[in-house]
Amino acid sequence: MSEKDRFISQSKPFDYDTMLQLIYEIKDKFPFIKIGSIGESLLGRSLPLITLGKGKKSVIYIGAHHGMEWITSALLLNFVNDFCNDYVNGRCGSEISSRVLFETRKIFIIPMLNPDGVDYAINGISDQNALLSRIIKMNDGSNDFSHWQANARGVDLNHNYSAGFKEYKIIEREMNIINGAPGKYSGEHPESEPETRALCNFVRLQMPELAISLHTQGEEIYFTSNQNQNQAHNSLSIARTISRLTGYKISFPMGTAKYGGFTDWFIEEFDRPSFTIECGLGKNPLPFSDHDDIYSRIKRSLYTIPILI
Ligand SMILES: [Zn+2]
Repeated sequence: MSEKDRFISQSKPFDYDTMLQLIYEIKDKFPFIKIGSIGESLLGRSLPLITLGKGKKSVIYIGAHHGMEWITSALLLNFVNDFCNDYVNGRCGSEISSRVLFETRKIFIIPMLNPDGVDYAINGISDQNALLSRIIKMNDGSNDFSHWQANARGVDLNHNYSAGFKEYKIIEREMNIINGAPGKYSGEHPESEPETRALCNFVRLQMPELAISLHTQGEEIYFTSNQNQNQAHNSLSIARTISRLTGYKISFPMGTAKYGGFTDWFIEEFDRPSFTIECGLGKNPLPFSDHDDIYSRIKRSLYTIPILI
């Protein structure tokens, strides 16, 4: 495919402004989709919400909890564009047609939960940023933010849920992580950050049947932190289906990822299936050139997951 025919152009980084521009383009082409916002980031960026379909049963897909994992936002927008194209043209992205999917399911998509972190990771930190000196200090005095995972004030959003929060505090003390870091600092209390608070409030209100959180990397699917508990209804069979469609393996978290995060919060709160999909393989941040390969691996599962509930 030539660069000019591509929906996701890799000629410039996939930052927040690029994403917004694509969302407007999609809305122009496909006025039947709903565009909204779940709230604002710490630095005041609106957190876009795209709603596909009008069925009663709903699922939610979330991208870019982590700054340097911005490629997950591009994957989700590519999916939205494909889904809408298929809907208009009466094509199928899975065993059932996109039109049937549209009528019978709802897919909530929050492509970039952490736009401020993505901005740091892609564009670095602006001289106008009121947190400049604090953030540079957290980043060990470096101006290189390409590995930034946290939000604008150094809170790791995926550690900012009630699930595993106490355990994270113990680990942070051991690792000497205090008051903010490029990653792994869980914040003052669960949902202390505007991004996690907005997401949790939205999820509590809409109560989706199933949740997917996209991260990079590892080509793995996590569906619970604990092998012995919290395996919400038919989680294992859904994980197996996702595994079959993507070729990714089912894993159990290790290290600091094993204590909690959005996926565990969703399972604990609602006793419903929730999965973390670690997209792609390599060293974070994955290069944008990996996008098409990753997308071709996960595309079918994004179409199929809503049918599994
Ligand atoms: Zn991540």
